[in-house]
Amino acid sequence: MRGQFYLTILGSNSATPAYGRFPTSQVLTLNDHTFLIDCGEGSQIRMGEYKIKRNKISHIFISHMHGDHIFGLPGLITSLTLNSRKEPLTIYGPKGIKAFLDAVISMSYSHLSFDLIINEIETDKKISILAFEDVEIFAFPVFHRIPTYGYLFEEKAGPRNILKSAIHKYSLSVDQIKSIKAGNDLDFDGKTIPNEEITKESLKPQSYAYCADSRADDRIIESVKGVSAMYFETTYLDDLRDQASERGHATSKQAAELALKANVNALITGHYSSRYKDVQPILDEAKSVFPNVYLGYDGMMLDIRNLDQSK
Ligand SMILES: [Zn+2]
Ligand SMILES: [Zn+2]
Repeated sequence: MRGQFYLTILGSNSATPAYGRFPTSQVLTLNDHTFLIDCGEGSQIRMGEYKIKRNKISHIFISHMHGDHIFGLPGLITSLTLNSRKEPLTIYGPKGIKAFLDAVISMSYSHLSFDLIINEIETDKKISILAFEDVEIFAFPVFHRIPTYGYLFEEKAGPRNILKSAIHKYSLSVDQIKSIKAGNDLDFDGKTIPNEEITKESLKPQSYAYCADSRADDRIIESVKGVSAMYFETTYLDDLRDQASERGHATSKQAAELALKANVNALITGHYSSRYKDVQPILDEAKSVFPNVYLGYDGMMLDIRNLDQSK
């Protein structure tokens, strides 16, 4: 069913937990899907706090193998078994994710109650990795110190909705409604009523791009241009630009410049360095370049379908 498109941020800090901020993890609730993106330490605790039902997660998308993005996975997977999960769980991630999980599961004598399907991604360009009737998911390279992928969740346009007034006016049968929903015109009293006259557009398709960890490299623009919302890591303020680049990270200003060049509607910040207790300057710096910025924080729930429009 088409409806919700919510992002819940479970962790917004970088390497270690600090100032009440946990390492990276996010949940995307998109229509009937629940997707987990990265799974840093403490993700399960946050799911409890933010009322995310972990058993509803069907797919997990891992950006890279650094611990602050994967150390929550073993706990989550074994908890699902303790919950007697039966539905398969599919994980996408870079090379190494399978060896990591196989080792953790076997060395801890864990026996899973469900099928764990692990797909390792290896690509130097944007590729489609998964498609449903209502959404398609792409992986694309981002530019960190080790192989890292961003993910794009792109909603497909839904079928047009029939106007209630048309159902009454033409006393439409079930078969006629099916035909109109499929995009056909209506034959009525020897006349052709065009489909657009008796239907209206469904909800506008939205898109969400997740980019972390990464330098704000211009090669990412092609993969994220025009999205409704882009999460881009903002580990540092711009006075630490050299350090950011050395460590494969972005500054808030650099992320905002990339958002501007990629013509995205909104930018969401996160993955803050533990050197910053107060992250307000990260927001201020991004906003000095790009107007529509949301300062990510643990517990933030963002309705991507109803974000402010910057244009
Ligand atoms: Zn990280
Ligand atoms: Zn990293």
